[in-house]
Amino acid sequence: MNDFKAEPPELHAAMSAAAARVFASGWYVLGNEVKAFEQRWAAACGTRHCAGVANGMDAIELALRGLDIGPGSEVVTTPMTAFATVLAVLRAGATPVLADIDPESGLMSPDSVRRCLSERTRAVVLVHLYGQMRDMPAWLSLCREAGIHLIEDCAQSHLAQWDGQAAGSLGTAGAYSFYPTKNLGAIGDGGALVTQSDPLAARVARLRNYGQSERYVHPELGMNSRLDELQAALLLERLQWLDRFTERRRTIAARYDAAIDNPRVGLLARPQQPKSHVHHLYVVTCTARAQLAEHLAAHGVQTLIHYPVPVHRQAPCAELRRDPLGLPHAEAHAAACLSIPCHPQMSDADVARVVEAVNAFR
Ligand SMILES: *Cc1c(COP(=O)(O)O)cnc(C)c1O
Repeated sequence: MNDFKAEPPELHAAMSAAAARVFASGWYVLGNEVKAFEQRWAAACGTRHCAGVANGMDAIELALRGLDIGPGSEVVTTPMTAFATVLAVLRAGATPVLADIDPESGLMSPDSVRRCLSERTRAVVLVHLYGQMRDMPAWLSLCREAGIHLIEDCAQSHLAQWDGQAAGSLGTAGAYSFYPTKNLGAIGDGGALVTQSDPLAARVARLRNYGQSERYVHPELGMNSRLDELQAALLLERLQWLDRFTERRRTIAARYDAAIDNPRVGLLARPQQPKSHVHHLYVVTCTARAQLAEHLAAHGVQTLIHYPVPVHRQAPCAELRRDPLGLPHAEAHAAACLSIPCHPQMSDADVARVVEAVNAFR
């Protein structure tokens, strides 16, 4: 599903040099490398601000805390996501409310979100699942009309664009993860919050560092969620390859869209715009998923499931409020979805082998 060892040797040489630069600097946490990365990532996202943080989950929690969305507030989000999305809402002290998905894309359904709104709703956390931004005008107007914040979970959608605007730049804040397997990944954990808001950026810069405004002064209780210099330096090098890697993902996904032709295997909706999808994952559906996965494994093709258990089926989340009509589409998707390999190091022959194996499934 990933092949980091097959990455270009130039990239690995540049990463080694960047690491050596950090060792030699003698400064390891929140320094010039982090500042440089924050500037470059804000520029790439088209936002006024970027704050490097420890991971993607913290970026969501910090966005909520920075907006005073905590105890007594509800946040509507999707059960078809990494557990971290919902855990971040809970860690902020707010109450997650789960909306169902659109079966065509796996993304949260605006109609379902409307049924989840209450007097206490303060935000929607919209996950650009699998790398896709969809229907952004509908999300922006839904949140504007409800008077609530749109927070984008961009952990899978690095630099996806809607009408030329990058993921994370449309809502009040965007939360990025740089976990190694993400489209832009560190060599460990990392994350970032991007925003156009001056006050939110200033607050998050403080909250990520114990709530410290200046050395030994703590006007509020924060957390320790800092990005370190080594990861920032490595991310700066990896960022230089992101456009090429994303284009390769698009080429592979377009090949799958065109060539997978098996009545037992369903494909998700095509991208709505040429740059709205960055194909973090390529997901198919199949009612005989276990057999399909076994067949592919027998043909040397790895698969994973994103996600086999929707969040409301996880023990600590079983009682969470949800769409009064239930979450039937999320449940059906969780039972049928299968992620097939889609990463920039795949050769054309690798892609052809996957297509052939999928099409041969009976
Ligand atoms: C990976 C991921 C996260 C969490 O990011 P971490 O850096 O692992 O904390 C949150 N949301 C989604 C959709 C993810 O894929």
